[in-house]
Amino acid sequence: TWANVPQGPPDAILGITEAFKADPNSEKINLGVGAYRDDKGKPYVLPSVLSAEKKIIEAKLNKEYAGITGVPEFTKAAALLAYGPNSAAIKEDRVAITQSISGTGALRIGGAFLERFYPGAKTIYIPNPSWANHSAVFKDSGLKVEQYSYYDEDTIGLDFDGMISDIKGMPEGSIILLHACAHNPTGVDPTQDQWRAISKAVKEGGHYPFFDMAYQGFASGDTDRDAFALRHFIEEGHTPCLAQSFAKNMGLYGERVGAFSLVTSTPEEKKKVDSQIKIIVRPLYSNPPIHGARIASEVLNNPALNKQWLGEVKGMADRIIEMRALLKKNLEDLGSKKQWNHITDQIGMFAYTGLTAEQMEKLAKDTSVYATKDGRISVAGITSGNVKRLAESIYKITG
Ligand code: PMP
Repeated sequence: TWANVPQGPPDAILGITEAFKADPNSEKINLGVGAYRDDKGKPYVLPSVLSAEKKIIEAKLNKEYAGITGVPEFTKAAALLAYGPNSAAIKEDRVAITQSISGTGALRIGGAFLERFYPGAKTIYIPNPSWANHSAVFKDSGLKVEQYSYYDEDTIGLDFDGMISDIKGMPEGSIILLHACAHNPTGVDPTQDQWRAISKAVKEGGHYPFFDMAYQGFASGDTDRDAFALRHFIEEGHTPCLAQSFAKNMGLYGERVGAFSLVTSTPEEKKKVDSQIKIIVRPLYSNPPIHGARIASEVLNNPALNKQWLGEVKGMADRIIEMRALLKKNLEDLGSKKQWNHITDQIGMFAYTGLTAEQMEKLAKDTSVYATKDGRISVAGITSGNVKRLAESIYKITG
């Protein structure tokens, strides 16, 4: 029956993990994974999250289904975290929101909603490059996917002029996907002034902004600062939609905690949007899992745990920022003639090193340092114990 099923290509990241596992070198380094590691290179369960989970287990809550849109205390708090305590849209009851299967599920619900109801052309523009799954998620939602300029290979930074000119060139009313902070895979974010100009260009084109915020708090260590772009767009009169993930900032990866929300113009509009989101979700998975959402809800709603969590998010962001600085310093101390400012200019979990595919291959073969071919390294995989060897390995290959 299935003889005609073609063999699909393997996942690029899983291939790296396999090559890493098979390498007998005891000093091998894996910088492919997109998950936070502590300074010993171990997965990190946030103490605030552990406390919240303990409380929930001790409360012996039942396991009844949540509603189609999830745990209401969770979605309410998630919206406040993203849009801010002073958000007029929330105060005026104009934000439709549903719990989702982490950030990916939120993007998928958003894609389905836009495919069904967006009044303009159903083309979404994503940055070049973007998170590898964006294109697949939106294509599977029935949207057409195009790219806009984002990354400048020469400066290893933002191609701001190219981005603005591409936004101006998009057909009126296009959908544009924006990484709210900590752009994956490049680590290159617009400055606040550049965001202001991007908002203006998006508005002038009559385009519709879709924010993907998978790293709130994880970039700068400050959840408000990381939400700047989203909040600025709303202040400027946009009514964006938003995919939120709690995988990174709460370390809830496998619990799959996220939310999809959409800012509408009136409470009546919000009600109608809510009703259609339910109609999209119901045949997809009926209703979302409750355990992770209860944990996130406790962390967000319990003032003491919330304060603790904000400190822990900052701790993770700070460790990453410190590893960027250490990597750059080690490369400079070795006498590297290359510029490494981009390592510390970039932000979030990933750094784009500027290394070519051939250099990345050599890095793996000759020095047992594993990361994706595009030159992206997970800074979360760097520790004070391996940074020197990492710098030596990169120096050996780039000079
Ligand atoms: N968007 C971006 C930009 C991401 O990097 C990720 C995680 N790698 C996601 C969305 C979604 O991840 P998750 O489904 O685990 O929340």
